[in-house]
Amino acid sequence: MGAVDRVRISPVVMPNANPTYPHPRQEVRERSVGYTVPMKPQAERQSLVPAKQTTIDPAKIAAVQAGLLAWFEANRRDLPWRHTRDPYHILVSEVMLQQTQVDRVIPYYRAFLDCFPTIQALAAAPVAEVIKAWAGLGYNRRAVNLQRTAQHVTTELGGVFPRDVAALRRLPGIGPYTAGAIACFAFEDDAAFVDTNMRRVLHRLFVGIDVPRPTASEREVLDLAVIAVPPGRGWAWNQALIEFGALDCTARRPACVICPLQAVCCAFPAIQGAIADVSRGVRLKPESAFSGSNRYYRGRVLAALRDLPVEAGESIDLRSLGRCVRDGFTDADVPWLYEVVQGLARDGLAMAAEDAPAYDAGAGDPSSDYGDLRVKLP
Ligand code: SF4
Repeated sequence: MGAVDRVRISPVVMPNANPTYPHPRQEVRERSVGYTVPMKPQAERQSLVPAKQTTIDPAKIAAVQAGLLAWFEANRRDLPWRHTRDPYHILVSEVMLQQTQVDRVIPYYRAFLDCFPTIQALAAAPVAEVIKAWAGLGYNRRAVNLQRTAQHVTTELGGVFPRDVAALRRLPGIGPYTAGAIACFAFEDDAAFVDTNMRRVLHRLFVGIDVPRPTASEREVLDLAVIAVPPGRGWAWNQALIEFGALDCTARRPACVICPLQAVCCAFPAIQGAIADVSRGVRLKPESAFSGSNRYYRGRVLAALRDLPVEAGESIDLRSLGRCVRDGFTDADVPWLYEVVQGLARDGLAMAAEDAPAYDAGAGDPSSDYGDLRVKLP
């Protein structure tokens, strides 16, 4: 049975319906009985257009939207890129936020825009000056790619950013996440896009626990993202998903006890026990000699990459990939998976795609160097 067949969307659970918390595994069984997400066969799901076939109780969607938007209003951080709709400024912030914490990015964002206040200024600058302005943020490749994008927009498009996701995707260095972020945060389009944190929040709210690995595929989570965007509120909604994943519904310490979405969350309360199990390094199944070999995992990685919508250029970050291919995958396994993927890349079977924004996730964790790296088929 594939992941697609296992996806269940639980009905709304009222806060007082079950005042005592059952054992996590008991809760998983209870919550696995609900509305099946009807998915087309894999061959029919290879489309650039987000699938519309995922169905969820509209009351559940409305409850999540209302709760998350209210939480965002009360808890949002005052971040400089939330005061602008300039697509160039949004692009700078999004590129800087890839693999770097918000607090660290803020002074660099301001200083960089002081140096290069317009896309034309960045495009015309000597590359050495751009790298110098980037110094301290790390991953200088991001700065070089950012300038290449600026040069393309300046020379090929007269300095004017396209407004829609499909056109943004055609810009060099712009992946699906960044295209959606620019369309939404600069042009207030109701775009659906997911990074690591957004994916985690959507999975927990609408599908269930995401550890030791997600039960919904990348594509299914993107489908959820599409139907969850409240019309006309895309900017606030996507900012809220990012903020909530960074501050409250974190990977390893979700603040379930004080969470206003507890009553409508499919992962609550089982998520706490599941995370504790993973932290203790519980392996759900003992591995055989072959099933523990690199050859075995190369096959599993390729199968997971093939499951992505290839012609849409979809990619997956290493953490999510790891949870797809290995039970009990933790951040400590990221360097191992990186080596497996590097081997596939050397053989021409995989390649790095756009790095995913991290937004505080994995802060201070050495494995975060690789965990948000996105990979795909060549
Ligand atoms: S109850 Fe816990 S897992 Fe669910 S949304 Fe809230 S913080 Fe996240």
